[in-house]
Amino acid sequence: MSETDSTPGFDTLAVRAGQHRSAEQEHAEAIFPTSSYVFENAAAAAARFSGETPGNVYSRFTNPTVRNFEQRLAALEGAERCVATASGMSAIYATCAGLLSGGDHIVSSRSVFGSTTLLFDNYLRKFGIDTTFVAQNDLAAWERAITPQTRLLFLETPSNPLTEIADIAALAELAHANECLLVVDNCFCTPALQRPLALGADIVIHSATKYLDGQGRCVGGAVVGSEAVVGAGVYGFLRTCGPSMSPFNAWVFLKGLETLSLRMQAHCRAAGQLAEWLERQPGVARVYYPGLPTHPQHDLAARQQSGFGGIVSFDLAGGQAAAWRLIDATRICSITANLGDTKTTITHPATTTHGRLTPEQRNTSGISDGLVRVAVGLENIEDLCADLARGLN
Ligand SMILES: *Cc1c(COP(=O)(O)O)cnc(C)c1O
Repeated sequence: MSETDSTPGFDTLAVRAGQHRSAEQEHAEAIFPTSSYVFENAAAAAARFSGETPGNVYSRFTNPTVRNFEQRLAALEGAERCVATASGMSAIYATCAGLLSGGDHIVSSRSVFGSTTLLFDNYLRKFGIDTTFVAQNDLAAWERAITPQTRLLFLETPSNPLTEIADIAALAELAHANECLLVVDNCFCTPALQRPLALGADIVIHSATKYLDGQGRCVGGAVVGSEAVVGAGVYGFLRTCGPSMSPFNAWVFLKGLETLSLRMQAHCRAAGQLAEWLERQPGVARVYYPGLPTHPQHDLAARQQSGFGGIVSFDLAGGQAAAWRLIDATRICSITANLGDTKTTITHPATTTHGRLTPEQRNTSGISDGLVRVAVGLENIEDLCADLARGLN
């Protein structure tokens, strides 16, 4: 293959993939805020509706701006297909509802996003889909939990908020040996740092709300994978049931993708510096960051990811009182549960993101009362350290 027709690199795809210039010859991508599309005549409408001719029909399931975002994200994940959704949670729900039936079984890491746990535990069970939760890093526990009814293995890596790393290649092998699909929520790394499909995963989930947007503006999600799995089951569900992404949000996300790689490198650099600083502070009992040599899966993270991510969590010896004191003393960090923003955010997981879990569920997930999560933004690192030092002293 000559140099000119080789596959474009990640950064080129992030800026260029999926753009379809309209007759107006716009340089930046256009937003198409339209609910429906006009057909040339009745026969053309009939052909479009039946799928005989491709093209736009109705923005619940076909919109040029949304398609632009889908094609760009698919290119970055190295996938055939991406289906954009209204939120990260609806991406997970559409995956399960589109691909599973009553009687099917999920094995999930117990270190998944709080709402994901509730979706599996409270809602999917109502429709006869059972979930067994296992320790993220215990491969034998995953294997033991698989039954003849198991269809999906589900995980996040690094996990939220403890940054546990799952071995994607090993779990993909286990999934395929048991005729299951491996679903990876790639929210914390994004394709700029980790490409689960290349490691054997079948489906990648995104909360576009986080780093894909990158500036905390819109809520959205995506399901990424093969045409056979995502293009059929998941798209079919979206088309009929309608948890669709708005064109405006799609436009914000697709512009976010253009700077994703640069932003992720900056988030990683700052988070690494913050984690090292935190390890030296008295009152900090433990720091969770995959980039630290003290992280139990540091080597796996280094193999599987091209950067260690922007999330740092730490345990304060003084429990909830110390955690709240530290959070309340900050003047720069935003007290909010969102992450993946240019603005650094600080969270007390036990009373916010994981507050709806029972104390027992929190305990088995390792969410202690003294745990604080920082999603490191793009401010000067010296200012962030000083901001946290206020409440540590
Ligand atoms: C935020 C988040 C979700 C849910 O995404 P929404 O866009 O808020 O619905 C799912 N997984 C992870 C890891 C998240 O951080």
